[in-house]
Amino acid sequence: MINIPKGTKDVLPKDAYKWHFIENAAREIAEVYNLKEIRTPVFEHTELFLRGVGDTTDIVNKEMYTFKDKGDRSITLKPEGTAGAARSFIENGMSSGVLPAKMYYIIPAFRYERPQAGRLREFHQFGIEVYGSQSADTDAEVIFAASSFLDKLGVKNVKLNINSIGCKTCRAEYNAALKAYLEPDLDKMCPTCRERYEKNPLRILDCKEEGCKKITAKAPRMIDYLCDGCRQHFEQVKSYLAAGGLEYTVDSGIVRGLDYYTKTVFEFVSEEIGAQGTVCGGGRYDGLIQELGGSHTPAVGFAAGIERLILLMENTGIPFPEEPKPDVYFAGMDEDSRRTAFSLALKARAAGIAAEVDHMSRSVKAQFKYADKIGARYVAAIGSSELEKGSVNLKRMSDGFTQEVKFEDINSYILSGK
Ligand code: ATP
Ligand code: MG
Repeated sequence: MINIPKGTKDVLPKDAYKWHFIENAAREIAEVYNLKEIRTPVFEHTELFLRGVGDTTDIVNKEMYTFKDKGDRSITLKPEGTAGAARSFIENGMSSGVLPAKMYYIIPAFRYERPQAGRLREFHQFGIEVYGSQSADTDAEVIFAASSFLDKLGVKNVKLNINSIGCKTCRAEYNAALKAYLEPDLDKMCPTCRERYEKNPLRILDCKEEGCKKITAKAPRMIDYLCDGCRQHFEQVKSYLAAGGLEYTVDSGIVRGLDYYTKTVFEFVSEEIGAQGTVCGGGRYDGLIQELGGSHTPAVGFAAGIERLILLMENTGIPFPEEPKPDVYFAGMDEDSRRTAFSLALKARAAGIAAEVDHMSRSVKAQFKYADKIGARYVAAIGSSELEKGSVNLKRMSDGFTQEVKFEDINSYILSGK
């Protein structure tokens, strides 16, 4: 037998309704926030992620699914959604269209990680991207969109943590202070941190190694080094969050995974799903579009992990509304009546009624049992006398109430009962 690859999961038909619920909630939130869907390829040129995610990130350093295609091009399966959306924004000249460009995506993402609960090699994200606005209300709107999405799912006890990691100007001053602080202990830090020390010292604070975490515990924090512009922006974001009544905690330790984050960063974290508690992460990345060759375009967005949300909902007993069951089951007793059952089902479906018939040559008794199992609302048994009369006894399964209905009236009868 061939097994599923490590770190991947099937969504079985019996569980698909959970995904539909989350995806529908995402699309409904997108609609009320006026976000339009963008679909980009599952794979891109590797270069896009080297530049768009950044070569001091875990994603680029350790996690990408990169391979050569038959034309000897280096291709990577998308590890996240922002880089592809940003590439498309530039390539399609969206900066000369209506701004801000407000977009969302629901995508599979691929990262070669150590699989554990809430950490997979293929996982799924709902994300939003807003390009072209530099004002703090946009950061706040993106955070509210994430929060409304979580509310819509019914998840509770998710904490919002926010931080600001400044801009190019104030970051330079901070980097110098951080480097001076870490210098004496640098030889005790992991190789990745030592590399980040040279390339992007702020990212050292994102290291998960215990030894490094100890060294950085009391290190200077970016939030104490913000320039006037960044400080003011952060204050404005907070005032908009307060205006909308959203509670938050300022956590100066959040630096986020991607290299091109500027100013606002945020995470929604749950304590109900263990170590992989971040269900949604985002922030502002004003440097990204330019880094990828576009003109300077401020940007802000988030991505939420769908598997982690499902895990959170399951662990905390939040119910998923089930999908509708079949409206009617037509049972046929012999070859002629089975053909009639078949065509009545076709007519019902054409009228938008979910109808089912037997495909397993079951006895009528077994068909009734099956109809009950799949939760059909009505069942009609068809035999020679029904064929003669041109009518059926429709049985309402919830209470056994039975009504004789002419073939041609079945659809309107069922529809009126809805
Ligand atoms: P983490 O710190 O948990 O590795 P991250 O910073 O790498 O998260 P992002 O790149 O910000 O995560 O991705 C956004 C969201 O996607 C995360 O908050 C999480 O919910 C989800 N996510 C990220 N990586 C995985 C994964 N390997 N499996 C499942 N969900 C994931
Ligand atoms: Mg990660």
